[in-house]
Amino acid sequence: METNEKDSAKGKLQRTTVTYFVRLLRETGFPKLVLGTAVVLSIASSLIGLVVPLITGDLIDNFSKDTLNRNSILLLAVIFVVEAITGGLSYYMLAFVGNRVVNKMRKRLWDKVLSLPVPFFDRYRSADTMSRVTNDTNEIKTLITDHLIAFSSNVLTVVGAVAILFYIDWQMTLVILLAVPLGFGILMPIGGKMYKISISMHEQLAKLASLLTQVIGEIRLVKASNAETKEQSGGYEKMDSLFRFGMKEAKINAVLMPLMSMVMVALLVVIIGYGGVRVSSGALSAGELVSFILLLFQIMWPFSQFATFYSQLQKVMGVTERLRLILEYGAEPARTGVPAPKEQRDLSFRDVTFAYADNEPVLRDVSFTVPANQITALVGPSGSGKTTVFSLLERFYEPGGGLIAYGEESIRAYDLDSWRGKIGYVSQESTLMTGTIRENIMYACGADVTEEEMIEAGKQAYAHEFIKALPKGYDTEVGERGIQLSGGQRQRVAIARALLRKPDLLILDEATASLDSDSEHEVQKALNHLMNDRTTIVIAHRLSTVVEADRIIVLEHGRVTGIGKHEQLLQTHPSYIEWARKQFQAGSSSEEV
Ligand code: ADP
Repeated sequence: METNEKDSAKGKLQRTTVTYFVRLLRETGFPKLVLGTAVVLSIASSLIGLVVPLITGDLIDNFSKDTLNRNSILLLAVIFVVEAITGGLSYYMLAFVGNRVVNKMRKRLWDKVLSLPVPFFDRYRSADTMSRVTNDTNEIKTLITDHLIAFSSNVLTVVGAVAILFYIDWQMTLVILLAVPLGFGILMPIGGKMYKISISMHEQLAKLASLLTQVIGEIRLVKASNAETKEQSGGYEKMDSLFRFGMKEAKINAVLMPLMSMVMVALLVVIIGYGGVRVSSGALSAGELVSFILLLFQIMWPFSQFATFYSQLQKVMGVTERLRLILEYGAEPARTGVPAPKEQRDLSFRDVTFAYADNEPVLRDVSFTVPANQITALVGPSGSGKTTVFSLLERFYEPGGGLIAYGEESIRAYDLDSWRGKIGYVSQESTLMTGTIRENIMYACGADVTEEEMIEAGKQAYAHEFIKALPKGYDTEVGERGIQLSGGQRQRVAIARALLRKPDLLILDEATASLDSDSEHEVQKALNHLMNDRTTIVIAHRLSTVVEADRIIVLEHGRVTGIGKHEQLLQTHPSYIEWARKQFQAGSSSEEV
């Protein structure tokens, strides 16, 4: 939404938000029977609640005249029990409705988040998106469980109670009702201020959570960079700001709470004083006065609920807008298009231009062909766009211009799942998920992989030996809860994962971080297995890789500046010669060590 929209547009926005919220609820689907029963019970409970003061008053009047009226007391006891049961049941049912709605909404959001395209995650912070799925949905639950239905029964209670109050003593009721606009006059502006504070606190809390997630997640970097003090002050800043908002809230409460109790006491004094006069004049019985006071107490709770209902509603409107942003963001075109062909074809970039968001183009008129069943190496300085080429191949992003063709067809024509199913991606970092090594190897495949196939992949990736030597073998937990694997071991697990997928097209980002020479040798052997019989594109950092490549593509500043074999480029391409010389030096110096 545009931030510079004016107030008139704001009202419209509110309205569309409300409509959207209602639609969202409707689409999520209420358990209607439970909701209906809950509404009936909640209304019944409110109505019964109104009867209690009347019976109590009646009891007092009769009590003073005759002796104890057993039937009235019994009736009162029964009513208490019935009220408690209906109240409890209706709350439970409403909580069920609220939890069900939130559960469904979370699932819907989760589906959506998983189907969102990569640019979404570039644009919005992951901590924010996480909070949408967890916290924001909770606000909707609170609204449904504690407020939405309660609101209608509260209205009923107030209207009913006021009607009875008028019936008992209209003059006294009028006096009290005069206090209502006065109360609203004070409470509304304060409520607005409190609401603003609570929104700011919410934002600050989200910022703090996001900082904590980042710092705790990257604690090694923080420690290695001696950045504790920096992060400490960053955290302090947000915590202090939370403290300030907390104190602002406290300041308002410090005025508001005594004020409220003062008003209450004053009201009570007026009622008892004025009521006493009315009782002694005979206009009102003692029991009626008690009923009157009890009814007033009954109204207080719904009144205070109205205020929180309003602020909760506002909160949920904010939440709705944020959820809408996710729910209406275009998803990846998952199941459209024809299945990707099974056979190997040449892959070609034809005049591909691409820019991230609205930035400068990262690739400009990039054209090259990757022949089927051969190894093509991408080389070029860091930042030249090599990883971007991979991202475009994975269809994480769409090119701004030009075409990526598989044979003669655009890869956009293919069903996304089937296209990605053809690709095996081994990245530099070889990320592992928390879980066992087995789960990690089988991560990219369905459950229909046999134990033998998995072990075979482990063997071909030269990972079997080291995995077997681990305490629990393939069932060893890795990542957060388990052991940490070395860089080379991680890569081999990732290679086993890619092997198991039997990809037609392998995209491989060679690790720049030097592995120890044993590891490097093993990884190289595993990679050779992996590259066998498939089309491979490798971002090359080692001289040995480019020497063996069937074709090398040199990328510089997002443009292709050379295509050929190693020997050809060594003759013709100045920057390639420079690059090769550096790689050679790096290679020979590491061998010397
Ligand atoms: P290489 O892999 O050759 O080092 P990249 O393809 O990673 O280069 O990056 C090319 C350019 O694109 C760099 O200038 C980088 O800053 C930019 N870039 C990479 N990823 C993103 C992204 N997700 N959002 C915005 N810019 C990006």
